Amino acid sequence: MRGAWVMRYVENMNSQTAGDYEAWSDLVRVRVPAKVNVALCVGRRGDDGYHPLHTVFQALSLYDQVEVTPADEGAIDVDITGEDAEEIPRDGTDLATRAARLVRERYGRPDQGAHIRVTKSIPVAAGLAGGSADAAATLLACSVLWDLDTDPGALQALAGELGADVPFALLGGTALGTGRGTELLPLLTRGRYHWVLAFARRGLSTPSVYQRFDDTAGEGRDGLPPGLLEALASGDVPGVGARLCNDLQGPALELYGELAQTLRYGQGLDGVVGAVVSGSGPTCAFLLDEARAAKAVADEVARLPEVRGTLVAVGPVPGAQLLG
Ligand code: ATP
Repeated sequence: MRGAWVMRYVENMNSQTAGDYEAWSDLVRVRVPAKVNVALCVGRRGDDGYHPLHTVFQALSLYDQVEVTPADEGAIDVDITGEDAEEIPRDGTDLATRAARLVRERYGRPDQGAHIRVTKSIPVAAGLAGGSADAAATLLACSVLWDLDTDPGALQALAGELGADVPFALLGGTALGTGRGTELLPLLTRGRYHWVLAFARRGLSTPSVYQRFDDTAGEGRDGLPPGLLEALASGDVPGVGARLCNDLQGPALELYGELAQTLRYGQGLDGVVGAVVSGSGPTCAFLLDEARAAKAVADEVARLPEVRGTLVAVGPVPGAQLLG
């Protein structure tokens, strides 16, 4: 009998799902969202090499899916398909494999194995934490597949070892992240947030954007924009839009100048109340104050030469969830 805590992660849990869930033994499926940083305030790099962050994450309705099935003799292998799958290393260093190994090492036995199948919709190296999402989903999926003695706190701790954005992919919703981004506080928000995401033609590596931040700005903000949390709590979408901020946006624009045009153009369209580069970029995120305008904005922005595609998404959505 698996720990009752697992139910917390079951999608639309009801008695039927709970009953079915007991029968899942050979296939565990997890859906996991991308994130946008509503605010990303970056402090000066510390002696430990990390930048202290104050960030507000929001989980969006753009998902990767991870499926795991048992494998013999402790084998762990991964099959990755979908958006940008060819850009992910196949030498056992991908984030899903690392997550499976980590949870097994701490809570499992060496003879436990898994075939991992990742289906990506979240573009790679886009500032949407797709790799972190896959790591979070795999921690949860393997934990259930192998019936490990974990709980949400244990998974959160392992997630923090795998990367700064991994704990939030488990949690979802809207949350304040401090420290390296792994210390999370769920935030009360009202309303639905409609976003248009504009994917760029090439990726940006997170370390290179931080390096540029160090070389140029050096010192960002050390706190959130005043009024942001109040605007989120009251569902004041234009108020949130006016306070979107990202200290990595300047460095990202220096490395990928064409993004400035994407941001400027999108920001001027009807219904758009704010525009920001997501995370370390290069995805540009536009916040709208109503759903109706989203499709038109997505179509308009998609015409720009540096945009390879657009997508309408809503937030906040739950973090990693077990699917029936
Ligand atoms: P960040 O979490 O810093 O915002 P990102 O969203 O910009 O990161 P990711 O899509 O997570 O970028 O990819 C970052 C790097 O991780 C890429 O170079 C990619 O090759 C590597 N990677 C390893 N495993 C995965 C995975 N399962 N999905 C995506 N990227 C992966």
